Amino acid sequence: MSDVTPLSAEILRRAPKVLLHDHLDGGLRPGTVAELAEDLGYRDLPTTDPDELGRWFRAAADSGSLVSYLETFAHTCGVMQTEEALVRVAAEAVEDLAADGVVYAELRYAPELFVDRGLSLDAVVEAVQEGFAEGTRRVAAGGGRIRVRTLLCGMRQHARALEIAELAVRYRDAGVAGFDIAGPEEGFPPTRNLDAFDYLRRNNAHFTIHAGEAFGLPSIGEAIQYCGAERLGHGVRIAEDITADADGNVHLGRLASYVRDRRIPLEICPSSNVQTGTVPSLAEHPIGLLARLRFRVTVNTDNRLMSGCTMTSEFAALAETFGFGLDDFRWFTINAMKSAFLDFDERLELIEKVVKPGYAALG
Ligand SMILES: [Zn+2]
Repeated sequence: MSDVTPLSAEILRRAPKVLLHDHLDGGLRPGTVAELAEDLGYRDLPTTDPDELGRWFRAAADSGSLVSYLETFAHTCGVMQTEEALVRVAAEAVEDLAADGVVYAELRYAPELFVDRGLSLDAVVEAVQEGFAEGTRRVAAGGGRIRVRTLLCGMRQHARALEIAELAVRYRDAGVAGFDIAGPEEGFPPTRNLDAFDYLRRNNAHFTIHAGEAFGLPSIGEAIQYCGAERLGHGVRIAEDITADADGNVHLGRLASYVRDRRIPLEICPSSNVQTGTVPSLAEHPIGLLARLRFRVTVNTDNRLMSGCTMTSEFAALAETFGFGLDDFRWFTINAMKSAFLDFDERLELIEKVVKPGYAALG
């Protein structure tokens, strides 16, 4: 809101960005989906033409039909069932994020979705870590820089959260920074996985929880007060606990106050929220209100393939819709870096040596 000159996409691309909420199985290149399908003998794709496939993913995810939306992930997960495929997808994700100006990313996925052809959970994690390392090497070889960490997700509708939490702790020194639960929020409250969260807390491990997207305040309340989530995946429906009176005075309910007072990070994914119908349009997205009230707001992509978005395009859309300027994007970025599941000294180093100088250099 501070800058008067319109921000070019190139400036936004060069601005250092930090991404906390991005699904590995939601960010494949369309061409890679087609090639892996060919390699693996996967015959269910609607088309094998990369451009058409890219359009199909966006349209299917946009259609308002949950069946079509889930079908998109059936295809991406369907082609991520071998170690080679996982290494490739992970390495390309790192390259794509670095090209988008992301300097630190936490990529997440549910290992249990990649065991259909016989891979063990450990083999899945090791293949993805190998891919992240390979991608990071390629970025460095090209003169770029990015640091990547992993979050492992348990699926809410399955009953393996504890097993996945144990997996996350087992690989904590190999780049796995934390845990999450994903999948259908309604009907699967976070407290169904209390054993996993208790285990993580006892092991001083970090976790976020998808809450406040498809379901409202009770889900957020459970995630924080019963499960102990450090961050909220989306959390956007915390806005339902904020009211304005006739004079425009804003009032925060107890839960919204708690979230703001405790600086609980909100992993906001604007395009994804519009696509899934969590909010009717970007203009009506509460991110403007939440940022104005100084919640710990971060900006994220969620599923780059399904939403056809990047961090740069999310920033550009927010600049256009809400008038955010570079100072705001710097604030979102520092918020995200402060909230990362990375050692404190590394977070500080990235803020002081990468993010702040990066924004200063943009003028
Ligand atoms: Zn998500």
